[in-house]
Amino acid sequence: MSIQKIDIEKIVKNVIMEFQNSKNMDKMNTNKEDGIFEDMNEAIAAAKEAQEKVKTMPIEFREKIIKCIREKIMEHAKIMAEMGVEETGMGRVGDKIIKHQLVAEKTPGTESLTTTAWSGDRGLTLVEQGPFGVIGAITPSTNPSETVLCNTIGMLAAGNTVVFNPHPGAIRVSNYAVKLINEAAKEAGGIINIATSVVKPTLETADILFKHKDIPLLVATGGPGVVTAVLSSGKRAMGAGAGNPPVLVDDTADIEKAARDIVNGATFDNNLPCIAEKEVVVLDVVADELIMHMKENGCYQISGETVNRLIKEVFIEKDGKHILNRKYVGKDAHKILKAIGIEVPETIRCIIFEGTKDNPMIKEELMMPILGIVRVKDIDEGIKVAVELEGGNRHSAHMHSKNIDNLTRFGKAVDTAIFVKNGPSYSALGYGGEGYTTFTIASRTGEGLTYAASFTKSRRCVMADNLCIR
Ligand code: NAD
Repeated sequence: MSIQKIDIEKIVKNVIMEFQNSKNMDKMNTNKEDGIFEDMNEAIAAAKEAQEKVKTMPIEFREKIIKCIREKIMEHAKIMAEMGVEETGMGRVGDKIIKHQLVAEKTPGTESLTTTAWSGDRGLTLVEQGPFGVIGAITPSTNPSETVLCNTIGMLAAGNTVVFNPHPGAIRVSNYAVKLINEAAKEAGGIINIATSVVKPTLETADILFKHKDIPLLVATGGPGVVTAVLSSGKRAMGAGAGNPPVLVDDTADIEKAARDIVNGATFDNNLPCIAEKEVVVLDVVADELIMHMKENGCYQISGETVNRLIKEVFIEKDGKHILNRKYVGKDAHKILKAIGIEVPETIRCIIFEGTKDNPMIKEELMMPILGIVRVKDIDEGIKVAVELEGGNRHSAHMHSKNIDNLTRFGKAVDTAIFVKNGPSYSALGYGGEGYTTFTIASRTGEGLTYAASFTKSRRCVMADNLCIR
């Protein structure tokens, strides 16, 4: 086939896709779609009815639906990425496409469920992983459709259905994902409402979910407010909460690579992922070299009064407290700089500055492509400062070093669900690293990177004095 023919085919395919996508967006605007309800109680009842059906299905059939969901995600990754950026005003389309592809390709399905067995003179005992039933899930605005899709794959693989109360600021793209899931389920075998949601999620609809008798498990992905809310519900709950991941660089690291990895990790989707590098702690002897290479990788350094101007812009000061100005969350670096009167080309993807550990842009989780750099005299001080900046979230921390003792010491001291060594933070999501993908990292409650098995309860099944054929 000639190159021209391939190009023409590609163009035609893209045009058809754009057309279908715009039709889908219109539909979302005007119609109530599969799985989307006006009333939270109805959304729960529908998911309960669906779970009764899922319960009786062969596991193979769950997998068939999941396969179909994965295909739909790949097909609609671009439109969901565009919708997400358009609706929330945060992040980068290219990176959001990658995030959706990761969900499709690397979220574990039914194959990740395991059975433990003991067999001997007194028979056969199995421990199997069974579903909870209907799960109530709260999702964030930072990875909205990604979380809806990733949660559903894992929860359905385990035999559950799920009711979402998505972030109100990302309702359109979240519900688009819910609709896709139900479309996939229908195509695979006629079951709808394996995931449901509401037209207008509010704190009141969340409260119905939290208190409903048919919801035995709650999974919250979001900031401290929502995690505390589910943990206070009196139900079994998983809290995937906030982080402020430090990246520690010592004098044995490959500094050029460390700079590249840090900038790549911190700028992925404009720093929205909770796992992304949020501040740098570096040994003084290599700090200048690191900063030089960070600038080669698209960073713009500010200092002095300009840092104070940026603080005033990205925070709203109230009663002596710094409250995050959501206006700049997930925004491009050049747009943030423009707000403080600095014009730079769009190739500038990160703002860097040197500061102390008490600087609010270093201490607080910003979710913006802004990286504060703290110099320390040695590894002891580095570990101490980085642990302090992680803030006890026990979420994520990263390090660049070739010294195994230093890596081990920091890993133990910081005690986080994720600890990436010598790579960008996103390698923890299986992107440029081994392992599976998740967008719900249950840092507060200890499940860590959730997957199908996280959404199961353990069941012991005993056959006394028989079925052992050894
Ligand atoms: P957010 O906390 O503003 O909102 C999350 C959801 O919770 C929304 O639907 C919101 O309406 C709801 N909510 C908030 N308070 C509530 C309450 N008291 N009761 C019921 N519902 C409530 O989250 P966001 O700004 O979209 O996401 C960013 C935050 O989430 C960051 O802190 C980030 O680190 C964290 N996050 C964590 C993970 C993880 O896996 N650990 C993943 C993504 C985001």
